[in-house]
Amino acid sequence: MSGQLKKLAVLGSTGSIGVSTLEIVREFPERYQIVALTAGSNIELLVQQIRLFSPRIVSVISDLDVQKLRSQLEGVDVEICSGVAGMIACATVPEVDMVVAAVVGAAGLVPTMAAIKAGKDIALANKETLVTAGSLIMAEAQRQKINLIPVDSEHSAIFQSLAGQRREDVRRLILTASGGPFREYRRSQFENITPADALAHPNWDMGQKISIDSATMMNKGLEVIEAHWLFNFPTAMIDVHIHQESIVHSLVEYQDGAVIAQLGVPDMKTPIAYALSWPERLSLSQQPLDLCGIGQLSFSEPNKELFPCLQLAYDALAGGGTVPAVMNAANEVAVEAFLTNQLSFLDISHVVEKVMSLHQNEDLTTVEQALRADLWGRHKAQELMSGGVA
Ligand code: NAD
Ligand code: MG
Repeated sequence: MSGQLKKLAVLGSTGSIGVSTLEIVREFPERYQIVALTAGSNIELLVQQIRLFSPRIVSVISDLDVQKLRSQLEGVDVEICSGVAGMIACATVPEVDMVVAAVVGAAGLVPTMAAIKAGKDIALANKETLVTAGSLIMAEAQRQKINLIPVDSEHSAIFQSLAGQRREDVRRLILTASGGPFREYRRSQFENITPADALAHPNWDMGQKISIDSATMMNKGLEVIEAHWLFNFPTAMIDVHIHQESIVHSLVEYQDGAVIAQLGVPDMKTPIAYALSWPERLSLSQQPLDLCGIGQLSFSEPNKELFPCLQLAYDALAGGGTVPAVMNAANEVAVEAFLTNQLSFLDISHVVEKVMSLHQNEDLTTVEQALRADLWGRHKAQELMSGGVA
């Protein structure tokens, strides 16, 4: 579809992925047009984005922000909505070809599902959607025959490393993980980790929630679940390697011993651009990968004892049903509590583990059920934290 204008809705346009997506759109105005944007509470940035990209509809979380936006946008022709209904309206605008799902957390599930049901292609950054209801999302994507292209760098790498190969020849998927800021820490050093320590990711510049998830390695756990649903391989075929340089973005090993990987500088613009332009590639003004300058690449096994969240995610996937939704919800609440100094770093995994152990698992058949499990996980995590986690 070279040369054709693709019309986009960006859910979460004021976040780290949203902003990078809009930078790409700005670089290729002949290829992409913004039709809809949604944001949380960063109204100032949303106003700038509306002025630059002239979407025909936008949405924010709260009604109060709708008034604020209106007063700042006098004379600008844009429909302003709010809440979940507003996000759904943006995700299903008839002329939109592709929805960039870049909201953080399970809040992305409902609008992403609505976009799929409306037949939109999806560039998926929002991994929590697949963790919460992966079976339902993938089934609907198949039913609607839409393209669901991963944005997450590891999954983009696997997507590219699987291209042109037969799936029956795959032996395993290997997700790489930087290991986060605490990969060299000894056990005793985990006691006094502050939000500022945990937000200082060595390789990637990301939103707060995913930065904390990277520090606990829950991010890699969520990504194992994401890979399971995206590529339909059993958990036993999905491994994780620590690779601190974040240059090899992930790998696929085949039956004959061949391993195909995708490499690049750690910058989300490359996987975002690939999701937007697939199966073509855009000539991005990216810094080239200088392997000789880097010199060496290292790999090692993850330490699941020091980073228990990784194992919890494997357990959640093995449990199936509503367990991953509950795990994700508890993690979202625990991470928020950690960021606001109400929970220690070590207690993030304790809260998640405890909530998972209290959950009565059910088969997952509807989105409503996934949302109920999500809500249950949130309440249970809150309850445990207010009572003091054991
Ligand atoms: P972020 O926090 O920077 O941005 C999140 C966006 O979602 C913002 O626009 C925010 O306003 C909006 N938002 C937050 N909560 C919302 C809610 N309840 N309702 C509606 N909108 C809401 O996050 P990010 O780092 O851009 O990550 C977005 C998603 O992409 C996450 O699922 C993350 O795991 C995934 N991802 C991010 C990166 C990265 O480099 N940042 C890499 C891979 C995957
Ligand atoms: Mg990733």
